[in-house]
Amino acid sequence: MKYAFFKGKIVPFPEAKIGVMTHAFNYGTGVFEGIRGYWNDQKSQMYILKLKDHYERLARSCKIMKIRLHNSTEDLCKITLELAKKNAYKEDIYIRPLAYKSSEVIGLGLTGLDDDLTIFLSPFGEYLDISKGIRVCTSSWWRIDDNAVPARAKITGTYVNSSLAKAEAIENGFDEAIMFSSDGHVSEGTGENIFVMRNGKLMTPPFCDNILEGITRECLIELLKNEFGIEVLERSIDRTELYIADEIFLCGTGAQVSSVVEIDRRQIGNGKIGEITKKLQKIYFDVVKGNNPKYLSWLTPVY
Ligand code: PMP
Repeated sequence: MKYAFFKGKIVPFPEAKIGVMTHAFNYGTGVFEGIRGYWNDQKSQMYILKLKDHYERLARSCKIMKIRLHNSTEDLCKITLELAKKNAYKEDIYIRPLAYKSSEVIGLGLTGLDDDLTIFLSPFGEYLDISKGIRVCTSSWWRIDDNAVPARAKITGTYVNSSLAKAEAIENGFDEAIMFSSDGHVSEGTGENIFVMRNGKLMTPPFCDNILEGITRECLIELLKNEFGIEVLERSIDRTELYIADEIFLCGTGAQVSSVVEIDRRQIGNGKIGEITKKLQKIYFDVVKGNNPKYLSWLTPVY
């Protein structure tokens, strides 16, 4: 039997159902997180990556969307651990907390509505092919602007934008799409932040280019600095800087560290996974699986 957290308690998964009039279902007024749990077979342990950071971002998304959380960050971490333990997976998992406007009413707005929170999880392997590098296109769909739909909040409705871009990419035979802001700056993938290496400089778009404030992005900035002495430059990036880059990688909870080997049918570097990307992948997977003692503070054991 699998379980979810729903309306304040842990219930059998089939009981976690919402009505069709639910505000968030109709208007996209929910915010969510995607958190990974990594199973370490040798240690018979599940490690949840950056649990607290994800709930802190959820709280920021809630603030933007005027969703009241009935539990503190600390409580949410505890509930998540209890739920993960009860589901008893012994493989990598993906945890999805979702806070939402739960009133069953017709009409727009954010106030005068009930708020609720659910947490569910599922087994989850690779999301993009990490081993051989991915082929991406630039999207004809712009990334949402912060003053249209707040980009730094992880809002359910926002993913219409990401889904349009992802569908276009897949239908045209690519693995993923890179989206631009309306001003032409590179923003991010459909669920990943982007890093671009050129002439010995590693760059990533700043928060004000409509990116989600990625937790993997922060992890990688820290690893690059601590482990390789590389300072990441946060600055806006143009479309054609992508074409002439030496290395590009995407990162996110789902994508982890994914090498981009081709963009708009132009080969990046020598068309193979770049040197920095390869080194970063190695250390990242060691860290998240609990095999690097220096970064155990990033992880919360379940069992
Ligand atoms: N951008 C978007 C739009 C995303 O959905 C995600 C995944 N949450 C990311 C970037 C990467 O963020 P994180 O590293 O926190 O998963």
